[in-house]
Amino acid sequence: MKIICIGRNYLAHIAELDHDLPSEPLFFMKPASALLLPHNPFFYPDFSKEIHYETELVLRICKPGRSIEERFAPNYYDAITVGIDFTARDLQRKCIEKGHPWEIAKAFDSSAPIGEFRKINALKNPEAIRFGMKLNDQWVQQGVSTDMIFNFNRIVSYVSHFVTLKEGDYIFTGTPQGVGEVHVGDKLELFLEDESVFWFRVK
Ligand code: ZN
Repeated sequence: MKIICIGRNYLAHIAELDHDLPSEPLFFMKPASALLLPHNPFFYPDFSKEIHYETELVLRICKPGRSIEERFAPNYYDAITVGIDFTARDLQRKCIEKGHPWEIAKAFDSSAPIGEFRKINALKNPEAIRFGMKLNDQWVQQGVSTDMIFNFNRIVSYVSHFVTLKEGDYIFTGTPQGVGEVHVGDKLELFLEDESVFWFRVK
């Protein structure tokens, strides 16, 4: 199992971090040890003083594929949920400045909480999937899949030209605006459409 993450996929988020608009999807990966499953807390790591949440739709790959054409991409994912792409923003800033890889800022243990999956065709509105996150019971991020620069099919097709996708792989599809810091004691709750799919605390 592998976790693939798309960066810079919503205009308003690119603006808030002052990044350039990508001409192609940008992706990076997290190892299996980054997974944080429901009913577990997130332990604030000691190597960062600025852990940010990024709330994202997460696809689950349902069959193996490589060099998938965009028009066939819907056959390769069947379920979706919401996850957090935890980011050590202080470390990421240094990596970007030096032109280094992002792993220490993105791939650390428990940096990928992933909620309970739902079948995409069972959603109320699969063409415009709403999602969001409440931090301590207040909305801090709300997004809709139609705001993505690169849609699910483009992402699956693009990634599969470089990396063979396998059943059970996860793809984080980028965060909308509103990213921010978490602190010890915070409660994070993830929503897919109107349903809570995961909540956990920062310890
Ligand atoms: Zn992200």
